Amino acid sequence: MALVNENYLKLVAGYLFPEIARRVSAFAAERPDLAKEIIRCGIGDVTEPLPPSAVAAMNAANAELASRATFKGYGPGTGYESVLAAIAHGDFRSRGLDIADDEVFLSDGSKGDCGNILEILGAGNRIAVTDPVYPAYVDSNVMFGNAGAAMAGGGYEGIVYLPCTEANAFLPELPAAGTAAPDVIYLCSPNNPTGTVMDRARLEQWVAYARKHRALIFWDAAYEAFNRDPNAPKSVYEIAGARECAIEFRSFSKSGGFTGVRCGYTVLPKSVMAYTRAGAAVALHPLWNRRWNTRSNGVSYAVQRGAEALYTEAGRREVRALVDFYMENARILREGCRALGWKTWGGENAPYVWCKTPEGRDSWGFFDTMLREARVVTTPGAGFGRCGEGYFRISAFNSRANVEEVVRRMGRLASCAAH
Ligand code: PLP
Repeated sequence: MALVNENYLKLVAGYLFPEIARRVSAFAAERPDLAKEIIRCGIGDVTEPLPPSAVAAMNAANAELASRATFKGYGPGTGYESVLAAIAHGDFRSRGLDIADDEVFLSDGSKGDCGNILEILGAGNRIAVTDPVYPAYVDSNVMFGNAGAAMAGGGYEGIVYLPCTEANAFLPELPAAGTAAPDVIYLCSPNNPTGTVMDRARLEQWVAYARKHRALIFWDAAYEAFNRDPNAPKSVYEIAGARECAIEFRSFSKSGGFTGVRCGYTVLPKSVMAYTRAGAAVALHPLWNRRWNTRSNGVSYAVQRGAEALYTEAGRREVRALVDFYMENARILREGCRALGWKTWGGENAPYVWCKTPEGRDSWGFFDTMLREARVVTTPGAGFGRCGEGYFRISAFNSRANVEEVVRRMGRLASCAAH
């Protein structure tokens, strides 16, 4: 008898984005006359074409594959040496951070990495996440058996939720002294969904906390390219001691427009340890290396060349222009919301604007109003956790024309509500 992974049965139905898609389809079916007017600012998917340097490199790579003389078959499981070197140098060593080429592991994107990394950890770790949170961290921990049953009103038993609210400017605080320390702490900065960035002092506290409790920090820097706050670390390794306790996740999805191309990477320093039940320290680097070489043959050749091209001089310029474009969208959305008297966070160092729903409306109720009356798809804050209730997220990943139209429609919605 084949046994099923019963952890999957604990997952609550209707992962956030399928539920949004369901409501949008239902509205489109009900009002086909309005369907073409719908503007999607819900899921954070990019809209602009790839940087030309990446396209040229991928085309050149495909041409190599078309010739016997330059054909490539299986490559190294964790990425070609030149790609790993471009990353380790471009994102770390050139910024004074001590990361070796072989501490970088290339993947098909960081969503997978944030869950797959759990394979090299033991069962029974106490996992801490922020509330609100990027849902994939929680769901993958449920699948791996690190959570108990779903709780009425949201969340899972056994997961430590770190509340992020207006009172702490949506930045997670250390668990109170005397409470059981988590073993793994997911931190995301710039944050999805709140768009906030963690300041250096707070990250120093987290690194000190992790070292004291022999815990691990999973630092998700998928939106690092959008962080231009000099007081907010772009990499966790800017903090002394992080090489002993932190694993960093990066993605080319939002910086290089690679959501469809698929490429990201993990940084796992050789000095990061986890422990056997008997308390012996074990370096995680060889385990992660083994995991990659056993479970994967790596990222496709052309994609690797495309990612590498983002580190050339031209590639960097093009990435910067792409990020600038989305950040201008974020500014337009943020200021548009503020002009209506809506309170916002984020949108300055992140492509997401986190907004308080007007008149204390609930998240899903306001989502429906925005969909039905403004034909704008947002993301209800409650979908990211209990503390997200009463807020919504607007994504800046859209065309300029759509972003400007969203601001106009929100204005009309607000003025109708006022009369
Ligand atoms: N981490 C966060 C916080 C994200 O928001 C996303 C994508 O939206 C990812 C990771 C996943 O990125 P990738 O496309 O590299 O899988």
